[in-house]
Amino acid sequence: KQMGSAGFESATKPHAVCIPYPAQSHIGAMLKLAKLLHHKGFHISFVNTEFNHRRLARARGPEFTNGMLSDFQFLTIPDGLPPSDLDAIQDIKMLCESSRNYMVSPINDLVSSLGSNPSVPPVTCIISDGFMTLVTSPAASKFGIPLIHFFPVPSSALMALKQLRALGENGVASLTDESQRMNGYGNTPINWIPGMKNMRLRDMPFFFRIAGSDDTLFNFIVDTVDKTGDATATIVHTFEALEPDVLQALSSMIPRAYAIGPLHLMIDRLNQEKLFASKHIECNLLEEHNECLQWLGSKEPKSVIYVSFGSVAFMTRQQLIEFAMGLANSNQSFLWVLRPDAVEGDTTTLPREFVEETRERGLFSGWCPQERVLCHPSIGGFLTHCGWNSTIESLSAGVPMLCWPRFGDQLTNCKYICDDWGVGLEIDTNVNRDEVERLVRELMEAEVGKKMRSKAMEWKKVAEEAVGEKGSSSMNMEKLLDGVLSK
Ligand code: UDP
Repeated sequence: KQMGSAGFESATKPHAVCIPYPAQSHIGAMLKLAKLLHHKGFHISFVNTEFNHRRLARARGPEFTNGMLSDFQFLTIPDGLPPSDLDAIQDIKMLCESSRNYMVSPINDLVSSLGSNPSVPPVTCIISDGFMTLVTSPAASKFGIPLIHFFPVPSSALMALKQLRALGENGVASLTDESQRMNGYGNTPINWIPGMKNMRLRDMPFFFRIAGSDDTLFNFIVDTVDKTGDATATIVHTFEALEPDVLQALSSMIPRAYAIGPLHLMIDRLNQEKLFASKHIECNLLEEHNECLQWLGSKEPKSVIYVSFGSVAFMTRQQLIEFAMGLANSNQSFLWVLRPDAVEGDTTTLPREFVEETRERGLFSGWCPQERVLCHPSIGGFLTHCGWNSTIESLSAGVPMLCWPRFGDQLTNCKYICDDWGVGLEIDTNVNRDEVERLVRELMEAEVGKKMRSKAMEWKKVAEEAVGEKGSSSMNMEKLLDGVLSK
């Protein structure tokens, strides 16, 4: 008889089917949660789309699933999009549409086949990305399996998303272009959201920058967050001390909400334990480049600004040039992760003057080990699109931010970073080099930047406390296990 790490006999182990939304950051966050559950003795079935599975195999080598653990399996489902061998992000709008129209039956089939497979324990719960609930909730109810929603966004963003339908019905959500957001209309106060203060219309999680006036994505999101009640319990990737008011307000609106995070810090704690069996399982869709760590090692403490806009956000060529020239003129060292597809319909080639000017103090990198980069002593600031994973990683590392949010929760995250948590400065959407130069200098050298860095160091401590043995996130994990997942 085999025993799991937490002492469950393998045949009677609880079995979690983990289904992330099929995009890099969602897969990464779900993987961390899956590893934590595996460590607690769960059998894990981790479900990627065939498209992403191929990308993973390409990034990590085809053997990435071999030699893995018998109780941590990767399974695949088709995504309903035309077959493609591309190694690039998929169109979010198309993915949302195809997931809701197509993936329900592959998920049903998968859960059904796991149920009749004698070599795995019976499925005891489906852990679904909250943004996959339209696809996963039918299988959960068909087979009578508890559904746990995992939202890889903060509770403020989830709460704000839950207001979008009402805004739409009042005609307010038709913020379909930049000019509407940035003129006085964008500053309209939104003061009726429970637990959220000083919000403006422009801080709401809108999608027009990737969806234009097409409302497919908007409808997908409002239909999805309407379904939060389908879950037995909800995990929100945050920690209690970060957003207590909104978390409390949200708790009365969604089933059994558990604030569990920062997940990567919880994993770091396990990394210190020798018995952490799933340590080597990683889910980067892009090959990781580590050379930048050595380069960072040659720089002074807190002297480098890290620049990355995540795995999805893109910009125009002119915006790229404004950022580049702003960084060049700021005289600061920088490490910039520039995806080949970061510029809409164009190349990421930079002006010769920029390349020459910054040769000594700038490094471009492919997909990097961001968590390690942010913790590197040479990093003093982060120019970010405010994706939630980047934000919580930056807070956990005590690194202040320059914010250039693009869409969705990034807009709300930016508001919290700058106004509520005191660790960031916002760059105007119509980015220009002078403003970039000024704000980079302010963050890296001026008094205001120093204050933000020390505030960020305070958040780092609070985040570490949350994942400590008796910290709120660790306790919430135990409550989830005892109250929901063990039933
Ligand atoms: N990331 C990384 N290497 C990079 C850039 C990003 O590992 O070069 C990781 C980062 O640590 C984070 C995720 O990718 O966990 C990005 O997630 P986020 O929610 O910030 O943004 P998204 O990609 O969803 O826009």
